[in-house]
Amino acid sequence: MPHVRSMLKIVILIILAGLAIVGITSYFYKPTYSVTLNGEFLGYTQDKSNLQERINEAIQKGNGGTVAFVQIDNMPTYKLCLLKKNIKTNDDEIYNEVIKQGTTYYRYYAVLEDDEEKYYIANFDEAESVIEQLKEKESTNSDKISIVETYNTTEPEYTDAETCVNELYKKKVVVNTYSSGTVVAAKSMNTSNNVVPLGISLIRPVTGVITSRYGPRSSNNHKGIDIGAGYGTSIYAAAAGTVTVSSYGYNGGYGNYIIISHGNGVETLYGHCSSLCVTAGTKVSQGQLIAKVGSTGRSSGNHLHLEIRVNGVTQNPQNYVY
Ligand SMILES: [Zn+2]
Repeated sequence: MPHVRSMLKIVILIILAGLAIVGITSYFYKPTYSVTLNGEFLGYTQDKSNLQERINEAIQKGNGGTVAFVQIDNMPTYKLCLLKKNIKTNDDEIYNEVIKQGTTYYRYYAVLEDDEEKYYIANFDEAESVIEQLKEKESTNSDKISIVETYNTTEPEYTDAETCVNELYKKKVVVNTYSSGTVVAAKSMNTSNNVVPLGISLIRPVTGVITSRYGPRSSNNHKGIDIGAGYGTSIYAAAAGTVTVSSYGYNGGYGNYIIISHGNGVETLYGHCSSLCVTAGTKVSQGQLIAKVGSTGRSSGNHLHLEIRVNGVTQNPQNYVY
């Protein structure tokens, strides 16, 4: 069978030749990916999955700093090729070019005063500290300051928290305080069903929804009613009279507040105001603008706290208005 033998020899020779070619090739060449983006050649990478993972990370979570995410419409394409071992790979350049061709979205925090963007801060904790510091310093505008998370394709000029606080801080000014800072407290509460006549009729100081009624509450006795209304809503005098207290400050929880005396021991009190429009001693007519709704003092939202007192004893305002 010499014929079969020579066939076998040829086959062995072919296999040896094949192995030699593979050996030589893998000695001089290595598998590399050529990377293109939108048909444009960007370079070579040896670690396709690592490069693509970096790109995916930028798409999903930005850079952990002010870059929130990157929108990339077209992904790079990879083509396997054999290249000489000394060929330069350039993963960083490819990565940068892919990111550059995408749209970068920045996330930062706008500090607003009266809904107007004033400053920009790069991170949330710092932005939040601005509000906390202003509250601690009893800045009169602290309830008008808010922060809004903002996404944009351009980055604004950032301000540090300390500068923000210094720029925004507004000193508490006491305007014509009749009671020289001390709160005019009610003597007691009328919690009976006896309706004490006022001798005058009252109008609603604000239109809004009653959010808390008069009388005992779980935490404390509520000496008035709360009427929810938007920040800056006008508050009108419930009846004609003389302003006896117009005081900015915390005021035992009342915040900025006004008391009007209507004669015969009848008084109305307006608490948690954002601003006061009349000073102590001013004579006001029924329906005259006296203050603006706010959330100053012990308050968790914009509302008017309305009290009616007769000889220092609080009465249920709902017996007379609302
Ligand atoms: Zn109240």
